[in-house]
Amino acid sequence: MIETKAPVHSERFSVNKTTESRLSNIDYNNLRFGDVFADHMFELRYANGKWDEGRVLPYGPIQVMPSSNILHYGQGAFEGMKAFTAKDGNIHIFRIPEHYQRFNNSCKRMNIPSVPYDVFHDAIVQLVDLDRNWVPKDELKSLYLRPFIFATEEFLGLKTSTTYRFMVITGPVGNYYREGINPVKLTTMPDYVRAVKGGVGNAKVPGNYAASLYPAHQAMQQGYAQVLWLDALERKYIEEVGAMNIFFVIDDTIITSELTGTILPGITRKTVLELTRHWGLNVEERLISIDELIKANKEGRLTEAFGSGTAAVISPVGLIHHKGETITLDQERMGPVAERLYNTITGIHHGRIEDEFGWCTVV
Ligand SMILES: *Cc1c(COP(=O)(O)O)cnc(C)c1O
Repeated sequence: MIETKAPVHSERFSVNKTTESRLSNIDYNNLRFGDVFADHMFELRYANGKWDEGRVLPYGPIQVMPSSNILHYGQGAFEGMKAFTAKDGNIHIFRIPEHYQRFNNSCKRMNIPSVPYDVFHDAIVQLVDLDRNWVPKDELKSLYLRPFIFATEEFLGLKTSTTYRFMVITGPVGNYYREGINPVKLTTMPDYVRAVKGGVGNAKVPGNYAASLYPAHQAMQQGYAQVLWLDALERKYIEEVGAMNIFFVIDDTIITSELTGTILPGITRKTVLELTRHWGLNVEERLISIDELIKANKEGRLTEAFGSGTAAVISPVGLIHHKGETITLDQERMGPVAERLYNTITGIHHGRIEDEFGWCTVV
């Protein structure tokens, strides 16, 4: 018998309820990622050195001044989290405190005032509770949660904004990759970099993604799903993928790039490390070069590669291209380590496996 935590609720914020739910118009059998949004959104405003009381509103257009800092200088940050329907009918929100901590770090790096933890937590809980009928029931789908913050001051001079808006929008999602849980193909793009030490690669902030779109588009035109980023200095060490951290299994050791400051510290990455260490597997966080990977593959010692991220959870990598060399892995299915992780993490999401680490908030 799996012991579940008592569901939490919040009615902290005023609610302007939508008069007409859009839920019945949504085709849950053909959900993609990020193009459908639930009925409500949360909004909190910052001015004169403090946050206001916050509110829940119908999802819809927002007003910002054309001179807002975010539109010109990109002072903002975001998070990506998920809620799931558990076996018992409750909703599980995965690792709220971890996402808050990272959000807070991103805000700090962008010189944005922090949102109090209780506001972040209660806003998400209340919004998910209110739109709970939007949370997909089926195992392969979830409600994606997107908390984000942006600078709204009307001022074109380059300086830290004095006004901000924190918002949360949500929406039901299916698979992140068109490939579903089939292996994806990656390529390095040695002419481009994602982040440098001292920059903002370890913060979830808009500019990182804007700068990745051109190389990602080129990779896609060459038939690859995403770019495998190498370090900016030597263009040699593997960092991560566009929206996933990366893991390799070499000689039964699970290896992922260490957090050098240029890599986004994924919550799924952390979950993978915690689980595999808990299982007593050999795990290493260290620098790993693309040459080491190519060599390990030639020697038959590289048995798996997979990405980790909230969107896809665990995504097997079937092929990696680098300067004319190709590492080919299993093109058909996940390897055993990836599969065990995928089954365990999604099992905890959906209450099939006991949440012994206390990762889920039950709503
Ligand atoms: C969000 C993100 C990840 C994955 O982080 P999770 O917390 O596991 O979703 C990895 N890399 C980048 C660049 C990201 O933005």
